[in-house]
Amino acid sequence: MSSSERDETVKITTEKAGGASAQKPRQVEIPPTIAVRQLAEMLDVTPVDAIKQLMRAGVMANINQAIDFKTASAVAAGFGVEAKLKHRPAAKAGRTAELKKQQKLAQGEQAAGLQLRPPVVTIMGHVDHGKTKLLDAIRQTNVVDKEAGGITQHIGAYQVDVNGQKVTFLDTPGHEAFTAMRARGAQVTDITILVIAADDGVMPQTLEAIDHARAAGVPIIVAINKIDKPGANPDRVKQQLAEAGLVVEEWGGEVIAVPVSAKEKRGIPQLLENIMLMAEMEELKADPSRPAEGTVIEAEMDRTRGALFTVLISSGTLKEGDVVVVGEMWGKVKAMFNDAGKRVKRATPSTPVEVLGLDIVPQVGDVMLEVADEKTAQAVIEKRRQSVAKEITAQKAVSLSNLYEQLSAGKVKELGIILKTDVQGSGEPIRNSLEKLSNDEVKVSIIHSGPGNVTESDVLLALASKGVIVGFNTGVETGAKRLAEREGISIRLYDIIYNLIEDVDKALKGMLEPTEVEVIDGHAEVRAVFPAGKKEKAAGIYVTEGKVMRGGSVRVMRGAQKIYESVVTSLRRFKQDVREVATGYECGVGVQGFNDFQVGDTLEFFHIEKSG
Ligand code: GDP
Repeated sequence: MSSSERDETVKITTEKAGGASAQKPRQVEIPPTIAVRQLAEMLDVTPVDAIKQLMRAGVMANINQAIDFKTASAVAAGFGVEAKLKHRPAAKAGRTAELKKQQKLAQGEQAAGLQLRPPVVTIMGHVDHGKTKLLDAIRQTNVVDKEAGGITQHIGAYQVDVNGQKVTFLDTPGHEAFTAMRARGAQVTDITILVIAADDGVMPQTLEAIDHARAAGVPIIVAINKIDKPGANPDRVKQQLAEAGLVVEEWGGEVIAVPVSAKEKRGIPQLLENIMLMAEMEELKADPSRPAEGTVIEAEMDRTRGALFTVLISSGTLKEGDVVVVGEMWGKVKAMFNDAGKRVKRATPSTPVEVLGLDIVPQVGDVMLEVADEKTAQAVIEKRRQSVAKEITAQKAVSLSNLYEQLSAGKVKELGIILKTDVQGSGEPIRNSLEKLSNDEVKVSIIHSGPGNVTESDVLLALASKGVIVGFNTGVETGAKRLAEREGISIRLYDIIYNLIEDVDKALKGMLEPTEVEVIDGHAEVRAVFPAGKKEKAAGIYVTEGKVMRGGSVRVMRGAQKIYESVVTSLRRFKQDVREVATGYECGVGVQGFNDFQVGDTLEFFHIEKSG
């Protein structure tokens, strides 16, 4: 430990302790068991400082390790904070309560007409761990509409009956779909079921799902699946969960874990009971007497019936004949069908219904609002259009180069980072160093960190959480790159840890310049070479991918070797000058200062953009 680091810790301790003599010491509620990382978050100190404090108390613990209340309170005391034991609370991420409050305010709910509503549940987990099988098992064991013989329609969600109470399950499992909805501003999920196969354990997508649920502030219940398999080892799953900061109840933590077998339909009632229990603790309420509001969770054009969409009602009651605005369209509810395909007249909060009544298919994530009449509908649409336009101009995605500007304008107070690294091991030291950069104005928090390339799911998470992506010794998947460009999400890649940390530090201080990135526009093959002018040569090319633009930059490649880099000076098709030529077409190009084309050369067209 360097002396400056020690000084810093001592300073924190004395500052907080100094304040304590004048006022009452700050109090935090700490659960019976807590991971070091979470404790550090609660105490507003970096995990490294928390670990140092633990070391002073003679406890060697890593960042993900769970420690008991006694040890946690000793650490807290070191920072001048008084720890109080928190009794059996709901298992949720730190930001949940605040988020829920905001959601309720946003929905404009008034306490008067509020009634309990069914919880809305999403299933997440690693591929092949049994998400789909579990959804099917739940559907078959507890169908609400028994008359329909248990045959359910696929409408994007379904409801099951648990001792007379309902639970709504979203039918699109996975955290990608969940975060894609969030990125569109729609958060419909109340509870996440994290499926982990007992024979496989916690896998990369399990960790990803945990981070996505946490970023959204949605509580997690773990379903340890495939317990029928000979290789099933639920205890190992629990151990791995603890390492990821989720300590199960029987080990003194807060996370409910239920062993199940989707195949043999074992443990399903226990899982449902626990969902109900958590729903009760969460006090999920809505007012059914208000005008209906909801989110589109599925939409399609049916050949015989026309535009159909499934809406999950969030508050109010939707009725046949109601006038609704969906996105920027309006219509009248002609007919509604439940998840059993049965026609219904009304849909109350947390109910999914398929609605017939729009001319055009809306988009998933669109908000549906019941209005009084056509005139109001048009006024609402006009207002939505204006606010969308305003949002587009006012809301810029956060990037490292505009962070300071957004900080100064008070638009952001937290820099959320998605960190991708080559191997799992390199994530931890980078995470620690980045979190240490937090200061009084801005908190640096790692929303997700994992090994591998930057994926679309990472970009969606950045979009939904207003975060940025940094990579160390890793690449970006093509789809992710495209999505990030379209949504203005900043991705910066590094191969030296020091540079990565320094850039984030500079960004926090407003000293980081935008980077220049090269964007590939297209590729072409040289198929012929012909004279153009006295000495100049032009190439007859075939555009194999993307496009070529006059004035754009070009690289001439022979095999894997770059032999020239310059600008496209002329671009012609059938003797006519053209501005650009797309994939699958032939054309003639002239490259400034270059006359040495050979048949078989490839051309790479690109331009430079300022980014992130
Ligand atoms: P998903 O990718 O998470 O949706 O996984 P699936 O639901 O498609 O399941 C993946 C595979 O695991 C399928 O072959 C399932 O039949 C199998 N599976 C799912 N649940 C269980 C279980 O409880 N026990 C056993 N033995 N196999 C299961």
